Amino acid sequence: MKGVVSGISLVTGDADVLPGTPLPAGRLADGLAALVAALNSPGSEFLASLHPVPAPDPDVRVQIGGRPGTADIVAAPDAWRALFGRFTADADWACSCPIGSALAAALAAVEVFKRLVAANRGGAHDRLAPADYAYSAVNYQAGTDAAPGPDVPVLRLAGPAILGCGAGGSGTACITAMHPRLSGNLALIEPGVHKLSNLNRYLATTAYDVCLPRHKLSTLVEHLARFAPSLALELHARPWEQLDSHPWDTMISAVDTVEARWAIQRRAAAGATIIDLAVDDLLYAALRVTPGGWCLFCKHPYDPDLAIKQRALRWGVPLDTVRDWTAADKAVDLQMLEILGRTQGKPVSAFSDLLGVPFTDTPRLIECGSTTLQADVPGQTPILPLATSAAAVIGASELIKQATGRSGLDNWLAHDMRRNPESPWRKHRDPLRGCPNHAAQSFVSQVAG
Ligand SMILES: [Zn+2]
Repeated sequence: MKGVVSGISLVTGDADVLPGTPLPAGRLADGLAALVAALNSPGSEFLASLHPVPAPDPDVRVQIGGRPGTADIVAAPDAWRALFGRFTADADWACSCPIGSALAAALAAVEVFKRLVAANRGGAHDRLAPADYAYSAVNYQAGTDAAPGPDVPVLRLAGPAILGCGAGGSGTACITAMHPRLSGNLALIEPGVHKLSNLNRYLATTAYDVCLPRHKLSTLVEHLARFAPSLALELHARPWEQLDSHPWDTMISAVDTVEARWAIQRRAAAGATIIDLAVDDLLYAALRVTPGGWCLFCKHPYDPDLAIKQRALRWGVPLDTVRDWTAADKAVDLQMLEILGRTQGKPVSAFSDLLGVPFTDTPRLIECGSTTLQADVPGQTPILPLATSAAAVIGASELIKQATGRSGLDNWLAHDMRRNPESPWRKHRDPLRGCPNHAAQSFVSQVAG
């Protein structure tokens, strides 16, 4: 949360980095210092800092493990659960499964952020998670219903693929790689290079990566080589649609447009398991496509005009205007930028790079990459690592379940950490009437019956 947090004070005994922690081996304080230093470059406007002494008047106190005392948040994990407050009595610090640790960290970061927002406003946040709280990635239930689940002592991946190595996809890989005995094969599919705003959200990305900028796969390969050296990688630095074949039987879909999700489902191998991750503000959602449940066409019904509608919304003009601009491939002029600026609530100068660019070459998601930092809960998804990290934990959790023969999510989950922090919604969703994917299946079953 660079730019929101001015400094973190670390009060700890001198300890070694434990296996599975994504820090260089050695002393914990040195590893954390190296991590924080990697977020800064000579050109950084804000410098991240870590202080090895207690803060005189901290805004938020977080305690990892131990008996609840004066800290605002007391967090601990077991294999599959994030444990807070009195639930930390169940902590297991020796388990290999990284899901509980990653989930506890992701949820604790959200609760820290809410308190910082409240402190900046001089008030209190009214939607905090309960102090005594447990949440399980086994059954995605909370409190005493949160299933503990057995540890996963060894993890071997049988060649799943991660489609889209942005914040969610790279996070899924990094969290899976926190398993200290990870081996097998993993395919990574990602065409893009880093941009500046990735630094705030990607778990393994450094200031160096965004300054160059490096390819997103390059960063991820280096991280996985360090922390999961027995994992064999298959790399595709191209969009999914451009691959010659799509043979994977398990896929994490972490792409960021509806069209990309349609393309994934359309080209996936028959019977493949698709686990789709999505974020919006402080909400994360996961969909495990199952034959009798929602698919990606049920969740996002096909609309041939979707792209044009989204562009019309972002540019603040009627559909017909977007159609005209597209047909003529009109060069962006000042008048167009004035409408865009009004619609996006930003000065025209914020979009000056687009002047003269042919309309069809303008970025689809113009708010990405140029989002101003707001120290407020709404609209933080493009700039902070909160919902994306939580979604990545779910991706890693489902990947581990699939690899170890456990039953996975059935079939939809959403968790709004802003409005309803304690209760994820889970549901088996019935296929949408008229979904072309399911229409074909039900026709086959009627004929068979
Ligand atoms: Zn469907």
